[in-house]
Amino acid sequence: MSADTGVYRRILSELRENVRLVAVSKTKTAEDILALYAAGHRDFGENYVQELLDKQSRLPADIHWHFIGHLQSNKVKHILSFVHLIQGVDSIRLLKEIERQAVRSGRTIDVLLQVHIAREETKFGFGPDEIGEATEGRWAAVRIRGLMGMASNTPDSSAVRSEFRTLKGLFDRWFPGGGILSMGMSGDYKIAVEEGSTMVRIGSLLFGERG
Ligand SMILES: *Cc1c(COP(=O)(O)O)cnc(C)c1O
Repeated sequence: MSADTGVYRRILSELRENVRLVAVSKTKTAEDILALYAAGHRDFGENYVQELLDKQSRLPADIHWHFIGHLQSNKVKHILSFVHLIQGVDSIRLLKEIERQAVRSGRTIDVLLQVHIAREETKFGFGPDEIGEATEGRWAAVRIRGLMGMASNTPDSSAVRSEFRTLKGLFDRWFPGGGILSMGMSGDYKIAVEEGSTMVRIGSLLFGERG
């Protein structure tokens, strides 16, 4: 199934003006992306470096590519020349590698810190107590623009809401001047927006379920 521009327009109409939509196109084809591109969309999210490189080389240069997956330090250099926003920065070590490569390349790189808010066990993400170490660091070529998080994958919407609320509280604390709060996916973006999201990352609702 290719991108459904009817669904696309419905989602856009539901989002407040200050909420950006990132269309998550992982595993989807260049043609799927072009269907939304033709409708005027420019922000796309990918999770895998090789797949992103393949698509970036074949698709229009004015696409804003968001890297939303787990990024290995040794792959940073491959995407640095064009990436728009690295959303899944989940450790100081990765942040330092992005800084090192960004200084070398002469580009300033915008990033979001991924915060671990879900109840589920995962290896990835800053703990709430570790955010300050990143935001208070001195970075020459990295701009920490805000936070990104994923809620638990559960039908319990009050649990999801409370996780988003936790992330919003951390965002307000560490980014009092504003910034980007990336939270909300196909199944929970409405709750995320109600809780203060400024960026939603939507894949399956736009492009169909991934095979
Ligand atoms: C895959 C993915 C999404 C999109 O998920 P859907 O449920 O298909 O909307 C959003 N954020 C991240 C970090 C992802 O890996």
